[in-house]
Amino acid sequence: MKILVPVKRVVDYNVKVRVKSDGTGVDIANVKMSMNPFDEIAIEEAVRLKEAGIATEVVAVSCGVAACQETLRAAMAIGADRGILVETDVELQPLAVAKLLKALCDKEAPQVVICGKQAIDDDSNQTGQMLAALMSWPQATFASKLVIAGGAATVTREIDGGLETLEIKLPAVVTTDLRLNEPRYATLPNIMKAKKKPLETVKPADLGVDVAPRLATLKVVEPAKRSAGVRVADVAQLVDKLKNEAKVI
Ligand code: AMP
Repeated sequence: MKILVPVKRVVDYNVKVRVKSDGTGVDIANVKMSMNPFDEIAIEEAVRLKEAGIATEVVAVSCGVAACQETLRAAMAIGADRGILVETDVELQPLAVAKLLKALCDKEAPQVVICGKQAIDDDSNQTGQMLAALMSWPQATFASKLVIAGGAATVTREIDGGLETLEIKLPAVVTTDLRLNEPRYATLPNIMKAKKKPLETVKPADLGVDVAPRLATLKVVEPAKRSAGVRVADVAQLVDKLKNEAKVI
């Protein structure tokens, strides 16, 4: 069974991003980039399924600029067998990525696609769901446990009231939540081995996909600065301020 794992190159989660002065987006010049953390969890899960003898091949896919090769090498250092880069300089939106992934699913015929639940740069939380819709495959999002057996996936999802467990027929799309697993650190020998694993590069046009953006970003602004707090003398003053100044009670 083949597993396809889309991995996105995003601004590292430790970086405090700055909005560009013209308000057109976030400044990513000279900023550390890394694999989207939810995608690391997805790769780890796929590699564990391979180690358990359930999967036979783990294919990592990244869509974007040439530097996404680094993200694919990182995925291969965790244990993916090979990588596919869909190279483009166009700003990719979730629908375009979902269409590219659909074209690759048609070609590669994986039984499971494990996506991250969301990319931490755009927080869209759309790509996996759109891919499932385009493929007419079942989907189970926000997985905190994944068991694959007998042509089906049993997925435990974290929901408001507790845990929900679904069974979906394969092929299917699963998206990862934070508690699914703790990704391993890539060891130096595995980083070296990853350099020799196959990495294929294709262009969106090779897959017959038009990736032109459908959404326009009108404006990006910094969040409002938090104003300094005040110390109150007693509960009565606190209640008074909440009532008359903050007007929240
Ligand atoms: P999003 O819908 O943008 O929040 O992304 C959800 C998931 O879709 C990510 O965690 C990745 O697994 C996948 N994904 C999104 N964009 C890309 C991309 N450019 N290349 C590869 N995978 C992506």
